[in-house]
Amino acid sequence: MLNDMKQPNITLGISSCLLGNAVRYDGKHKRSDMICSIFSHLFDFQPFCPEVAIGLGIPRPPIQLVQQKTDEETQGIRVVEVQNRKQDYTVQLTQYAKKTVCTDFTAISGFIFKQSSPSCGMERVKVYKPDGTFLHQRGIGRFAQVIQQQCPLLPVEEAERLIDVKVREHFVQRVYAYYACSLRNGMI
Ligand code: SF4
Repeated sequence: MLNDMKQPNITLGISSCLLGNAVRYDGKHKRSDMICSIFSHLFDFQPFCPEVAIGLGIPRPPIQLVQQKTDEETQGIRVVEVQNRKQDYTVQLTQYAKKTVCTDFTAISGFIFKQSSPSCGMERVKVYKPDGTFLHQRGIGRFAQVIQQQCPLLPVEEAERLIDVKVREHFVQRVYAYYACSLRNGMI
């Protein structure tokens, strides 16, 4: 059972659209009632929308993951506009993620990502060939990938998986442990 007492000063990063903020490419949100109800009793939230943060508008052209030539850092997966594949946001999303880890993550004890997104999805994101045909569904959103590379110990989960009560409880325990460890080490 989750303790429904809010823990002081424990903050989770979260994909902004999950909180009901209308920041998606189509000008809508993907509010998660479960997260807004259960998790807001436990934690504070710090929202992030990497696509808006790199200067894309609301609404904006949709983007997707495309497998192009192999390179060391991204394994050839690029983040490009669906309708204009020359418009490539991989570098901007990578740079933003690296910068925000340094500037905004000192007080964060976990992160909840929006599933399926080419920016925020942690796993099972669709990847396409350069000609636009579907290739596989083993991609990782670029922002989520860099955050996990930069902060390998940070507890992370996708909103959809947190519907499962066991996954949820395990995640909350990891967040508490991470927070306690950060306190001990004087990082918070
Ligand atoms: S999934 Fe991520 S990039 Fe897309 S709207 Fe939500 S917060 Fe922004």
